[in-house]
Amino acid sequence: MSLTFIAPPIQQINSKIARNAGVDLYVLRLDLMHPWVNGNKWFKLKYNLLDAKEKNFTTLLTFGGAYSNHIYATAAAGNLFGFRTIGVIRGEERLPLNPTLSFALQQGMQLVYLNREMYRQRNTPALEEYLRQRFGEMFIIPEGGSNLNGVRGCTEIIDRAMPTAGYAYAFDHICVACGTATTLAGIALSLHEGQRAIAFPVLKNGAFLAPEIKSLLTNYLASGLPSPYSSPASWELVCDYHFGGYAKVNDELLLFSQQFTEEHGVPLDYVYTAKMFYGVMDLLKQNFFVKATPYC
Ligand SMILES: *Cc1c(COP(=O)(O)O)cnc(C)c1O
Repeated sequence: MSLTFIAPPIQQINSKIARNAGVDLYVLRLDLMHPWVNGNKWFKLKYNLLDAKEKNFTTLLTFGGAYSNHIYATAAAGNLFGFRTIGVIRGEERLPLNPTLSFALQQGMQLVYLNREMYRQRNTPALEEYLRQRFGEMFIIPEGGSNLNGVRGCTEIIDRAMPTAGYAYAFDHICVACGTATTLAGIALSLHEGQRAIAFPVLKNGAFLAPEIKSLLTNYLASGLPSPYSSPASWELVCDYHFGGYAKVNDELLLFSQQFTEEHGVPLDYVYTAKMFYGVMDLLKQNFFVKATPYC
């Protein structure tokens, strides 16, 4: 499989708030890797697509809400790699289709709608059986690409996405927005000594993710899949910047996001990156990012 990606640039954020805190702040622009298949969504898909190819599946099926970036990326990547794709969408069909779903359709994805009650069963054998009866043999990728293949891809973000592997050592803290925490798990598994991953859940009461992350990490390490560094991962959740929950926003966040983009030329999305950067800037003001203690 090959797809032409550009190496994501690392962009410095020249902000007075960071300077005052004595912190050098950079953003890894995964969004610039490819026009459609980018960011962590690609890393989560990569080994799922390879696994599906290796097992001779020709159809991929996955799940998501009507605005899911994962649905978008799966439709595009599936198309590029010659898979038939089926997107199982939560809720009723709404016409006209929103930009995410019209793009998916344009990429050849077949859209199927499940009411919320059925959608909730998405990880059960019964629903899987129903889908197989309806659509035939298929490789199923869970919602958000959140399986061990997804984690594996995300172990490559820090080392391989940086211009040179050694560069990754330069960062004490690696901040990431967090939905399913698959991306965080992959990053946590690839940290060097002295580095710490800080995850900003975009869901309300994000602390519920902690035990899930622990079991994801345990399962991953037990699976025999490659993990770059087997030293205990150092990560933490910062749960105070969800702004009321998934896809919820307020004027303060909208204003922040607009100003941040104007000032630094980095586009933010309201679901993930705006909330994370709001949190990062706020924590900078509180001197949260003291230099990680060197490992010895
Ligand atoms: C999807 C997405 C996330 C969430 O990733 P998880 O692996 O589900 O935690 C975070 N940030 C951005 C920019 C995303 O698009």
